[in-house]
Amino acid sequence: MSDLQERAQALDTADELAPLRGLFTLDDTVYLDGNSLGALPRHVPARLQEVLTREWGELRIRSWDESGWWTAPERIGDRIAPIVGAAPGQIVVGDSTSVNVFKAVVAASRLAPEGRDEILVDASTFPTDGYIAASAARMTGHRIVPVDPADVPGALGTRSAAVLLNHVDYRSGRLHDLPGLTAAVHAAGAVAVWDLCHSAGALPVGLDAHGVDLAVGCTYKYLNGGPGAPAYLYVAERHQAAFDSPLPGWTSHADPFAMTPGYAPADGAVRGRVGTPDILSMLALEASLDVWEGVRIDAVRAKSLALTDFFLECVTAYAPEGRVASVTPAAHAERGSQVALRCEDAEPVMRALIARGVVGDLRRPDVLRFGFTPLYVGFADAERAARVLADVLSGPAA
Ligand SMILES: *Cc1c(COP(=O)(O)O)cnc(C)c1O
Repeated sequence: MSDLQERAQALDTADELAPLRGLFTLDDTVYLDGNSLGALPRHVPARLQEVLTREWGELRIRSWDESGWWTAPERIGDRIAPIVGAAPGQIVVGDSTSVNVFKAVVAASRLAPEGRDEILVDASTFPTDGYIAASAARMTGHRIVPVDPADVPGALGTRSAAVLLNHVDYRSGRLHDLPGLTAAVHAAGAVAVWDLCHSAGALPVGLDAHGVDLAVGCTYKYLNGGPGAPAYLYVAERHQAAFDSPLPGWTSHADPFAMTPGYAPADGAVRGRVGTPDILSMLALEASLDVWEGVRIDAVRAKSLALTDFFLECVTAYAPEGRVASVTPAAHAERGSQVALRCEDAEPVMRALIARGVVGDLRRPDVLRFGFTPLYVGFADAERAARVLADVLSGPAA
């Protein structure tokens, strides 16, 4: 056994989160794509079977009430709340992240002081956020200002209405300064909207502590909710009374079953709902959140940083000189829970890696992305991934 293999073994032995791996359905591949689709917790299929057989199959319409279907969006929001540092009553689950970006950006522009006409958007954002923000801006008469997150403080001014930022960049894995940037947005009198897709479940977010106004995030990445699991919307309590949804569907009505022609918004997080909740996906998500029972997000963060440090160390030790270069910041304060390596022939390299049981992700044209999900990835996985990568990079196939 090499030095690094011995260290991996010792790190796994000392890891307090290691037992959680047993809660997931995994095989002997090294799964480093949990930041695209989290693994399946073992107990979820049985729970879904029960939902199908008992709640849908036998109780049918009664389940909206008797099985708690109707209130699932707020109930599950409250299960996500501690993971992102929010007090109960501020998060509602439903719709996709894309749809929630739309709700949040339009609502933010309506919360902002009168007469401001600019919406600042992370210039390197995940495409859907940029597309939707641009459409929202067209509809509300705002102008989009693309800006690198680090340059936000300098770009803010008296014309800034809202700012849409990513907590962690999906490509590079860069962690942005949520507390500092939120404070800068507030100092300029604007409204801060954060996208937590690549941070929730991987590191502390502190929505309440840092005074975030609105936030969105998806649940099928680090939260393991399953493919297409519904996203969530956070509206800080102080904004709820003024939150004016651009999609005021009937399930966000104060009295939905009165079926009145006029709209009157519900109080609280419910106001962020739109239409009938997607119950099957939602209840799969709810069950999957059981794995967080007793897990401290600080412990998750500590392990995530140790894993990405160790993986980078193994890559440096094993990989042929000059074949890959990390684009993920080395500083812990600027790193999410992934390592992105620039590699000229990333596409064939990732294909070869997957064929050899190391599943990462390709971000075209030249980025190899490895997501580290601390609940079920260990140090031996990191070492093996780096070893196989080095082997692929040295071989003729790539
Ligand atoms: C994954 C991700 C999305 C996904 O949006 P969907 O509507 O679920 O397809 C959006 N934004 C960011 C930043 C993401 O990382």
